[in-house]
Amino acid sequence: MNCPRCNSAQEHLRTEYQGREGDELVWTVFYCRRCSFTWRDSEPAESIDYAEREAWFRADPDHPEKYKHNIPPADGN
Ligand SMILES: [Zn+2]
Repeated sequence: MNCPRCNSAQEHLRTEYQGREGDELVWTVFYCRRCSFTWRDSEPAESIDYAEREAWFRADPDHPEKYKHNIPPADGN
């Protein structure tokens, strides 16, 4: 599994939490160290699969200046 947002490989991912029912593992929350995206592996493929998500969602951590969605600077008013 790679990061759904930046496609970074497994070695860049950290397990944040594992949801269990008794002894059974039912879902895992992952965190990407490269782009800070967090997701749960039980979400649908169109949300967590890099190839399935719409291209506008993708991000390249090597070029943060190209991120399309940023919080605009405060105008001081
Ligand atoms: Zn990422």
